[in-house]
Amino acid sequence: MTTTPEQIVAWDRSEGAARATAAFERAFGTAPDGVWSAPGRVNVIGEHTDYNGGTCLPMALPHRTYVAFRRRADDEVRLVSAQEGAPVTVSLGEVAPGTVEGWAAYVAGVAWALRESGRTVSGFDAAVDSCVPYGAGLSSSAALECAVAVALDETHGLALGSSDEGRAVLARACIRAENEIAGAPTGGMDQSASLRCQEGHALLLDTRDGSTHHIPLDLGSHGLALLVMDTRAEHQLVDGQYAARRTMCEAAAHELGVTTLREVTDLDDALARLAAMPDADVVTRRVRHVVTEIARVQEIADLLARDAVEEMGPVLSAAHASLRDDYEVSCPELDVAVDTAAAHGALGGRMVGGGFGGSAIALVRVDDVDRVAAAVDEAFASRGWHAPAFLVAQAAAPAGRD
Ligand code: ADP
Ligand code: MG
Repeated sequence: MTTTPEQIVAWDRSEGAARATAAFERAFGTAPDGVWSAPGRVNVIGEHTDYNGGTCLPMALPHRTYVAFRRRADDEVRLVSAQEGAPVTVSLGEVAPGTVEGWAAYVAGVAWALRESGRTVSGFDAAVDSCVPYGAGLSSSAALECAVAVALDETHGLALGSSDEGRAVLARACIRAENEIAGAPTGGMDQSASLRCQEGHALLLDTRDGSTHHIPLDLGSHGLALLVMDTRAEHQLVDGQYAARRTMCEAAAHELGVTTLREVTDLDDALARLAAMPDADVVTRRVRHVVTEIARVQEIADLLARDAVEEMGPVLSAAHASLRDDYEVSCPELDVAVDTAAAHGALGGRMVGGGFGGSAIALVRVDDVDRVAAAVDEAFASRGWHAPAFLVAQAAAPAGRD
């Protein structure tokens, strides 16, 4: 029996705002000051480069997290989320690394980080609802942080959301929230994408200096689509794998006498110099991934600049091989998704996000989208795996008021 592959549906912004508003009124018995939302993202190319001073090319998705928000006069933060259980209350003055449990850390952490940067921020009530799935590699955590950031910005008159420089400041606050309060040692790609993307464009982000270029991305005019395949895979024992990769990259950079692996200009020379390190075989493969991946970002940017969109396929597939074999962050579900898509006409594809689950992307002809999704769905069913879910990525708008 064949079934229709499941879609990850993006809400209309009016629907998202209405949901968050209704949740706010139910929880707090009054109307919010407004609703702010921020998108999840998918990264076209440049994986595990952001914490190495490298480049990446994410785009905002139409899937957003909505926050109905009301500023308070005191220091209390009261939170509800349609995706979580009981309401949470946090006192802003008590927020510090290690003090906030669970999802509230992503929210309270943003207010904490803005205070740390010298801005005046008071308590607030907030109700959250979202169509960005958790842990799918689409960055629900940054979507939540960035929606809170733009809400805080406008309700406190910080005037950061109205310029790209200001948004870079908000992104830094969100990164600190995630790193220091939520305790997730991620790089800065997700928050920059959610706050600094433009509709219809991918964001070429250089994490070395924070500079950005907006690259028009209109796959549809080439009869192509970027199919996102959420494997729904959840692997145990992968906690700490991300941090371990990051730590090893930092150790390799230290050994090479550079600030970050971005500074590596001669890969062969660098690999030779790492040969004396403990675990040299692993270290050299990790470094090779990062350095070649940064080169692939440039390759894709160049292809897009000359409208050679079809030629992106092999570069995406090379990235997958590198993530699978050198960085070792893939898993059977991601490999099957990528390989099955390729076997059914995809021009190329790769896993996205941290790895060990989450999503993969495939560059497919528009006419093949349904066929490829059905084949991947079938491949998962035949292995007894959880059914995957799909969306076709459209480069959508950044965080803002609804
Ligand atoms: P992702 O790849 O989706 O960002 P993470 O593990 O980084 O996965 O972040 C997921 C976590 O972010 C959730 O477990 C939760 O703590 C928090 N989160 C994301 N979206 C929401 C939401 N709508 N409501 C409450 N918490 C959320
Ligand atoms: Mg995340």
